Amino acid sequence: MPEPLTPGELLALDRQHVWHPYGPMPGRQEPLLVASASGVRLRLAEPVEGVGELIDGMSSWWSAVHGYNHPVLNEAAQAQLGRMSHVMFGGLTHEPAVRLAARLVEITPEGLEHVFLADSGSVSVEVAVKMCLQYWRSAGRPEKRRLMTWRGGYHGDTWQPMAVCDPDGGMHELWSGALPKHVFADAPPALSAGPEAVAAYAAHLRETLAAHAHELAAVIVEPVVQGAGGMRFHDPALLRVLRDACDEHDVLLVFDEIATGFGRTGRLFAADHAGVTPDVMCLGKALTGGYLTMAATLCTTRVADGISRGEVPVLAHGPTFMGNPLAAAVANASIDLLLGQDWQTEVKRIETGLRDGLAEAAELPGVRDVRVLGAIGVVQLDHEVDVAAATRAVVREGVWLRPFRDLLYVMPPYVTTDEDVARVCAAVRAAARIA
Ligand code: PMP
Repeated sequence: MPEPLTPGELLALDRQHVWHPYGPMPGRQEPLLVASASGVRLRLAEPVEGVGELIDGMSSWWSAVHGYNHPVLNEAAQAQLGRMSHVMFGGLTHEPAVRLAARLVEITPEGLEHVFLADSGSVSVEVAVKMCLQYWRSAGRPEKRRLMTWRGGYHGDTWQPMAVCDPDGGMHELWSGALPKHVFADAPPALSAGPEAVAAYAAHLRETLAAHAHELAAVIVEPVVQGAGGMRFHDPALLRVLRDACDEHDVLLVFDEIATGFGRTGRLFAADHAGVTPDVMCLGKALTGGYLTMAATLCTTRVADGISRGEVPVLAHGPTFMGNPLAAAVANASIDLLLGQDWQTEVKRIETGLRDGLAEAAELPGVRDVRVLGAIGVVQLDHEVDVAAATRAVVREGVWLRPFRDLLYVMPPYVTTDEDVARVCAAVRAAARIA
């Protein structure tokens, strides 16, 4: 065993060497040092603001739906470790991956039949884009290689996903000159906007798609909830509009359910709100209950067959850690755990707690909007959040959140008790007061 390091030494080394997500260069930020995590609580190595334990209101970015250190997931990981933690997937296969693929086909919308087990959400989107472009290439229509999306989306940090995030003012604006140019419809109206706004927007979607159909490989969207692009909710009826327009104009439809999948919006998949099957669907985050990095890209037989009829009849993608058995074993356990309980009631319970707890925030000065859907709660301010001040405020309340731009938002693990949901909401209100 290496010599133990004190929290101070670890943080000094972190400052010296370690990049964090969307962080400035190492040394310019002060992350909190987590020693362990259990249930919905993160234990800090040293108290911060006098607080040693934080309720995780973020599920580690949508993923830890069952909370941390779960005995069932631990056992699945340990059992699989005793067999093999990894083996290459080229030319070999194994039970955890096969079971997982079959299970995903069973629980996702009818018609998705084939599964590519990627190693992160962004890669699963890259694979989805490659599938669509290759489908049209194989069909003798290589000119169909652009994508359409709507503004305000977020699909990841690698190249193609960045190209379908919002190019103006979005997280990847820095790269907009260098990225492939895709087609952007306006952002969808808010869920609260009413039927007229939805009808007008549906017409805009149809027109944009029709005008570009000859060059479009696919439309890609986050169904029902746009996550990191702004935490906006929209009418599921728009998914049906997209499905019909894509069918009419011979364009594939991709749903990125990396954030919304596995119950977060109150349905197992957000596509289920509309009863729509996309041609391709991306999953990640909660797939392994937040334990290990794994994502999946599912497609229909039409897409898979189309690819295999081409002059290059293979899907040319194969990450080293594809189908990782340890991640697949935990994913299987996580799905069993979720579906083996009345998860809808738990998500509904959290939704009610968030509605009750965040309603008051609507009255606070500087709060522009409060919205809740499933186990997702958002308080939108009329100004940029002071992230450092907001983080201090929530930590003082014993809660962990990660505000960004004008948003204070939460998506707690489904095992969060009513009392802890109330504490998360109190922390959001405290941050709204000072941020
Ligand atoms: N798509 C969506 C909708 C996401 O929310 C994210 C992650 N925030 C991604 C793609 C990218 O996933 P990953 O961070 O695992 O690459």
